[in-house]
Amino acid sequence: MGEGANSLFPNYGRYPLTFVKGEGSRLWDEKGKEYLDLMCGLAVTNLGHAPKQVKERLKEQVDTLWHTSNLFHIPNQEKLAQLLTDNSCADAVFFCNSGAEANEAAIKLARRYFQKIAGKPEQYEIISFHQSFHGRTLATLTATGQDKVKEGFAPLPQGFVYASYNDAEALEQAIGPKTCAVMIEMVQGEGGVNPVEPAFVNRVAELCERHGLLLIVDEIQTGIGRTGKMFAYEHYGIEPDIITLAKGLGSGMPIGAMLGKEKLRQAFAAGSHGSTFGGNYLSTAAGVATMEMMLQEKLPQRAAEMGAYTVSALNQKLADNPLVKEVRGLGLLIGIECTQPVADWIATIQEEAVLVVSAGPNVIRLAPSLLIAKEDIDRGIEVICSVLRKQAATAV
Ligand SMILES: *Cc1c(COP(=O)(O)O)cnc(C)c1O
Repeated sequence: MGEGANSLFPNYGRYPLTFVKGEGSRLWDEKGKEYLDLMCGLAVTNLGHAPKQVKERLKEQVDTLWHTSNLFHIPNQEKLAQLLTDNSCADAVFFCNSGAEANEAAIKLARRYFQKIAGKPEQYEIISFHQSFHGRTLATLTATGQDKVKEGFAPLPQGFVYASYNDAEALEQAIGPKTCAVMIEMVQGEGGVNPVEPAFVNRVAELCERHGLLLIVDEIQTGIGRTGKMFAYEHYGIEPDIITLAKGLGSGMPIGAMLGKEKLRQAFAAGSHGSTFGGNYLSTAAGVATMEMMLQEKLPQRAAEMGAYTVSALNQKLADNPLVKEVRGLGLLIGIECTQPVADWIATIQEEAVLVVSAGPNVIRLAPSLLIAKEDIDRGIEVICSVLRKQAATAV
């Protein structure tokens, strides 16, 4: 912690740790101690730290041009948009700088589609799910189905309704004459690594179809290979109308994207939405290099294989641990649900030079690089399981 720390708002709880260098699945702190990174800065550095291809593309771009504004064409932005539409069911892309902004754009697009294209201005309500997480702007924290992120921020915007996750009947009841869209994660990341049930997600798509609602899939955490497919919705044979992305898209460069189907394209006209920095030369250079590497090296498939291996190894080693309720996940987004709060255990794992993160109070979340070596996964599993074993031995 530097002297300047007092000049910051205290809105983050920070560990007493400062990293100065990263490479692949490794980070080094100020004292030169090496850590194994199994969290990727909250599921962001999906290719590991400072991947060569992305680094080189960024360096080239730094030497050439940084910013011109969206009043002009930006080749990297067009290239990345094409990579995203070629590899998803979407047809058009809007770029911004974060996940919350991507969801904000999705909410605005859904409302505008109903007001300007469908001619149904009375339909503006968005249904989201309990335990979801969609961001920290006023609209996206309202869409978020967790009270803790809303505390102290009233009055909240209107037009948001909540249903229980994995409960088709509850969703059906929540749909009314004002509903315009359903917003859902395929795995609730912040909410505790809760994968959606395949039967439920198919019902959601069916209900959206039947009632003429837009299906917005928040892939900010699950997208870009993390769950074993480029986008998690591909696991279920559904086609969202809107997909939102951020975390893994730029390998750590700030970028967000909102993807939509053809019928939504004209809902945004010139001037109806925008962002000064959105899709700038640097972030989209990182995005292009990231997507190309994902595709060339078939990293979603690797995430599927390594994820299956990790879950099965954890299950085996934790089967008789009374502190562990369940190991679950999709690809390399994995949760170990425990019977009690995990914050202290995560700190102990950290002392053993392995970085993991919580997802809600009782879940240890793993989101390692999709390129992580098997030996590293094995070592990480060993450390986590040995810490949990010791905790179980000392628990009364
Ligand atoms: C992280 C996250 C967000 C918010 O992204 P920010 O870049 O922090 O604004 C939204 N939705 C999901 C599912 C996320 O995991």
